[in-house]
Amino acid sequence: MPNYFKQQTPTMQVTVTYRCVWMGKLFGSSGVRGLVNIDLTPILVCKVALAVATHAKAKKAVVARDTRVTGSMLEAALVSGLLSTGTDVLLAGIVPTPVLAYAAKALGADVAFMLTASHNPPQYNGIKVFNGDSLSYTDQDQAAVEKIVADGNFVLADWRSLGKTTLIDASQFYLTMAQKAVVLKKRWNVVVDPGCGAAFSVAPRLLKALGCKVTALNAQPDGFFPARKSEPTAESLQDLAKTVKTLHADVGVAFDGDADRVAFVDENGVFVNFDRSLAAYGAFALKRSGGGIVVTNVEASMCVETMAEKFGGRVVRTRVGDIYVSEAIKRDGAVFGGEPCGAWVHPQQHLCPDGPLSAALFLAALETEGKSVSEFIREMPEYITMRENIACKNEQKYKLVEKLGGVLKTEFPAYTDFSTVDGVRLALKNGWLLVRASGTEPLIRLTVEGESSQAAKDITQKVTALIHKQIEAQQK
Ligand code: MG
Repeated sequence: MPNYFKQQTPTMQVTVTYRCVWMGKLFGSSGVRGLVNIDLTPILVCKVALAVATHAKAKKAVVARDTRVTGSMLEAALVSGLLSTGTDVLLAGIVPTPVLAYAAKALGADVAFMLTASHNPPQYNGIKVFNGDSLSYTDQDQAAVEKIVADGNFVLADWRSLGKTTLIDASQFYLTMAQKAVVLKKRWNVVVDPGCGAAFSVAPRLLKALGCKVTALNAQPDGFFPARKSEPTAESLQDLAKTVKTLHADVGVAFDGDADRVAFVDENGVFVNFDRSLAAYGAFALKRSGGGIVVTNVEASMCVETMAEKFGGRVVRTRVGDIYVSEAIKRDGAVFGGEPCGAWVHPQQHLCPDGPLSAALFLAALETEGKSVSEFIREMPEYITMRENIACKNEQKYKLVEKLGGVLKTEFPAYTDFSTVDGVRLALKNGWLLVRASGTEPLIRLTVEGESSQAAKDITQKVTALIHKQIEAQQK
């Protein structure tokens, strides 16, 4: 088939598009993402739509976006691509990623697309692709789509059989599901901060529907994210923390740009460490189900294991990336899973990380336990984390990490677990260490957690010296 896109596109954009494909991958750890009109052009978005529809043999797709100013432009390109393949498109407008993923499942769609760059700054955008069962596209699906884009091997429909668009209210399916999943007796006093992102409407609506007293901050949709960074951190949630304290609220909840992540502020206005909230909710989920599996990634604190063991559960660790967590949850029948960035998956409802549902379920857990947020979190052990970035040439870094596995096993003979699921991870009696090659920079990233600051320091010093020694040895 002739490649009309190539012929009709200005040279620079074609170069950029093909540069991405040529370099091997369009999809990163969370979909396709890039600077709009530099990496992520409407042409590329249209091609991804054509390729996904071709790959999935899609008849029905759901499309949504977050509040970014570039969303409607990219949506037009995406929808155009889908319609040209004969796929009917259900347009959900601005809703969180989990609302889209759940609506796709509820409506029996073949595929769902979310236009978002998640927590990244406003000049970025991206595409997350989901199957009809609310699971993100797997590495295999992504590779198949990348090949179709590279080959330009799209299946277009006859002009009389193009797809049709229908506007839908995806929130209604989601709110019905969430109100079945969560019942609250107490009138919780909650401050909610969607950060001008996609949860601006759904999150306050859900909490109100559950009977909470809701004060909403930054709940106006604004794709420039003027109020705070779209990534929820202790620093970006200072206004939320102050408001919780001033209003004597029970809890503050916040989301990232597409609301697949949740963050909490306790009743004293203190930001809750992500690892500890993950471990606390994981422990609650295990207690509720009388044991089972909790899934998290290689970077999460060992307090997740400490708590899981206490309640007769087991922890499965995956590569970094919520798709790997969701896949493992599905494969192992886990009761709960999440990453320490606040992306929590509740498989009883669906397989997409879900910020607003996590906030509601967190309140239900507090209610069941009869605890305040600080009391719920206080029981989690607090360990010490240290991170180091060590310069290492791109052509050297992957080989070096591979080689380090054997070296580390020899140097730490009393290790309790060894994993190469993502870089090299060694669990020790008094902590753990993780060595990974940076995906984007000429760096080796070392993460260490210790039971005490001395333990963390000792492990970090020893491993840093070993990495330097290996770099020197390879350069000789
Ligand atoms: Mg996100």
